[in-house]
Amino acid sequence: MRYSIVVPVYNEEAVVFECYRRLTEVMRQTRESYELIFINDGSRDQTSSMVSQLCSSDPAVKLIEFSRNFGHQIAITAGMDHAQGDAIVVIDADLQDPPELILEMIGKWKEGYDVVYATRAERKGETGFKKWSAAAFYRTLNKLSDIDIPLDTGDFRLIDRKVCEAMKSLKETNRFVRGLVSWVGFRQTSISYVREERFAGETKYPLKKMLKFASDALVAFSLKPLRLASILGSIISVFSFVYLLFVVGQKLLHFSTTPGWASVIACILFLNGIMLIILGVIGEYIGRIYDEVKQRPLYLVQETKNFSQEQQRPVS
Ligand code: UDP
Ligand code: MG
Repeated sequence: MRYSIVVPVYNEEAVVFECYRRLTEVMRQTRESYELIFINDGSRDQTSSMVSQLCSSDPAVKLIEFSRNFGHQIAITAGMDHAQGDAIVVIDADLQDPPELILEMIGKWKEGYDVVYATRAERKGETGFKKWSAAAFYRTLNKLSDIDIPLDTGDFRLIDRKVCEAMKSLKETNRFVRGLVSWVGFRQTSISYVREERFAGETKYPLKKMLKFASDALVAFSLKPLRLASILGSIISVFSFVYLLFVVGQKLLHFSTTPGWASVIACILFLNGIMLIILGVIGEYIGRIYDEVKQRPLYLVQETKNFSQEQQRPVS
């Protein structure tokens, strides 16, 4: 097998056939062998039966059916686990990432690069909020994390087999795939593109999933929020100590010590607020440590279609 295309799908009945058509058109131009792996991430619409239909008419199409919704990043991981190609391309089903770019990626790969990622020069048809929050997210992450994670770059990328093997050896549960790809290293390069509008349907990333995604990324790739907590704590202690000296001095010198109710309340509220924030930050990390310690499988596969015997691994 030469190329594996990994496509996570979650309630994408409006785009599945068009996605298949465009990908097939592009992959046939390579004149090399390929497989299209659809990971159905617990869709509740016709996505599964549509992909099954494609499976029976085209042996290049493969299906991994999750037992429930495990999330985009886990779906990509499952695709990489099952892929057989020498090069693996991850692409969204909604055609926001133009499949034609795959040919350009393959070109770079043949020049000897191991990772070819696609950076978004522009995003079409997305809300102002999404654009703004995405821009802010990538920049904050870059500031806070200890490794270089390319700006404005999604999961649309080509990786070589050896990068895929390296990724498989990383077993963490709260996965931020694009960060992990940066972490493994190898020879990486980028191409830039204009992100199209969704072909049909609507985004499967509501605010809640976006927040989970962002906190996974930050917590997995940076310890700075924890450090920030202790820095903030130290600064506040210094101020408190100075204030304490001031209060004691006032008392000793018999200046007026009118009961300062307002200032006391203000201090208590402020300090409690800070304390809760810090506890929350610590909680984020502890929660994830707990997740990792449980060592649950990343996902459960209900059934697969068109995979050969040696590719059949129920749980990874
Ligand atoms: N997706 C998934 N599981 C989820 C959410 C999304 O497999 O829980 C898939 C979705 O079907 C699509 C890709 O991830 O192929 C990207 O999602 P979407 O286009 O909705 O995200 P956006 O482009 O709006 O950030
Ligand atoms: Mg999309």
